[in-house]
Amino acid sequence: MIGVLADPAEQNVVREFFELFKTPWEFYRRDRQYDVLLCAGDGQCDGTAKLVFFYAGRKTPFDDEQKIQTGRQRKHACVLSYQGNRIPIYGDTITFPENRGDLLTDEDSQECAAFLDQSRDKVLVRIGYDLFSEVRTLLTVGQPSANANMPALELHIAFLRDLITGCGVPLVEIPPVPDGYQFVACLTHDVDHPSIRQHKWDYTMFGFLYRAVFSSLRKLIRGQMSVQDLLTNWAAALKLPFVHLGLAKDFWREFDDRYLELEKGLHSTFFVIPFRNYRGRNSHGPVPTRRGSRYEAQDIAVTIRKLMTAGCEVGLHGIDAWLDCSKGREELEEIRRLTGVSEIGVRMHWLYYDQQSPLALETAGAAYDSTMGYNETVGYRAGTTQVYRPLDASQLLELPLHVMDTALFYPSYLDLSPRQARILLGQMVDNAVRFGGTLTINWHDRSVAPERLWEVCYRDMVQDLKSRGAWFSTAGQAISWFRKRRSAAFETDSILPGAVRAKVAVDHGDNLPGLRLRIHKATERSEIGAHRSENYADMPVNERIDVTVPSEASR
Ligand SMILES: [Zn+2]
Repeated sequence: MIGVLADPAEQNVVREFFELFKTPWEFYRRDRQYDVLLCAGDGQCDGTAKLVFFYAGRKTPFDDEQKIQTGRQRKHACVLSYQGNRIPIYGDTITFPENRGDLLTDEDSQECAAFLDQSRDKVLVRIGYDLFSEVRTLLTVGQPSANANMPALELHIAFLRDLITGCGVPLVEIPPVPDGYQFVACLTHDVDHPSIRQHKWDYTMFGFLYRAVFSSLRKLIRGQMSVQDLLTNWAAALKLPFVHLGLAKDFWREFDDRYLELEKGLHSTFFVIPFRNYRGRNSHGPVPTRRGSRYEAQDIAVTIRKLMTAGCEVGLHGIDAWLDCSKGREELEEIRRLTGVSEIGVRMHWLYYDQQSPLALETAGAAYDSTMGYNETVGYRAGTTQVYRPLDASQLLELPLHVMDTALFYPSYLDLSPRQARILLGQMVDNAVRFGGTLTINWHDRSVAPERLWEVCYRDMVQDLKSRGAWFSTAGQAISWFRKRRSAAFETDSILPGAVRAKVAVDHGDNLPGLRLRIHKATERSEIGAHRSENYADMPVNERIDVTVPSEASR
């Protein structure tokens, strides 16, 4: 059991952190004994626990009390590293120049940023940043795109977990991993352009022609496109007048069949635009006209029914819902009307989103949001692979978006070749396997048609996800699974000392994979950062599970 002493203003952050690092904990009570006492910020630290972790990015009275020599305080972002992991820090950090521990090192100065001090029967670990202020930053502002590849929040959890077990304390946890799988894969599709016939003499049509004819040639020269794909695109460009005349098939219209065939029953999620020719608003100024869509969900009502019959989910690709809850209600209502489903999730068009959006979307009645991601790159904007509750929301959960096809391939974004994209995606699957949680992917509707032809890359990625043990779920199912995990509760009172009981409210009709309980063995200090799978054991959790984990005291 971890006792937490933190600034009272950070209580909601602490609660959310321990939904993501789901292990027994409580706010510190004077009358209780803890295996680990975690103090953060300026919180007064009680010195009676045997193992104390003190997180603060500046010199505190506790440092004077414990005669800890502190170095300079840094007020700008930096990267701390431990055992090859890089953890970006956005708030204050402080180093400890007199200490030579290798727990955590400031990458620039190579100074020690966390050390462990053992005197008599007590262990103190002083960590030179404020954990909960970092978590707050990640779950609100998010990370700049330069740090997109670092799952910062998962690394904070991994570091803390490693410290606990490395100090000889075993740990139980309900990891973000569905029983029987390694992680969750959410395949999603923003439906922006379901018909090229609707684009006559506009930005989209000229863009298509330019990219099909000239950009394809450039890609061929750079070895990023095959001759066959080049010819497919040129043929599509030649066919375009006939598509407009109704004499040839609309090649953007076939996205539903293409994805159903590629996914073969894996159940993806399609986000559709509610109203046509409405570009929406922005809090900073005018929005480009081209944000307005040429179609509206009603135009593809038959497709929506077909996708739902095949087991796919249809959500809202919102326009103003992110900043205006009454507009959000109208947008959601349109998708409810067409799907006949009351619980509708949202991803905003062009990923419009700010810190007020969770509350606006929750007030509008959205079932969840999946907008927190990057347009220009791929990675972890909120620093996490997990579904989380934004700090201002009371019900709404966020399924972070990790990979968008356009970020991978657009010349103005990452501009990757299919091979480079495969390598980068493989690294993100590695992270999903290591940390659990979800890998949320957005492959747009027209990406499997000319002129993008990003179908092979998509197919290979789905194959890789399959072979690495993904549970493929719709966005809504992933949200439900994480709600189930959030509903699990640990009991430590009134049972055997050292025993932990996990109680889960399971809805037996939910058809979702179960939860698992993971028992991490106590290890040696040298094991910190080693990530050995033999250091833990998993067991499935049904309605209730009792396990006895010897605490340090009783071993
Ligand atoms: Zn969009």
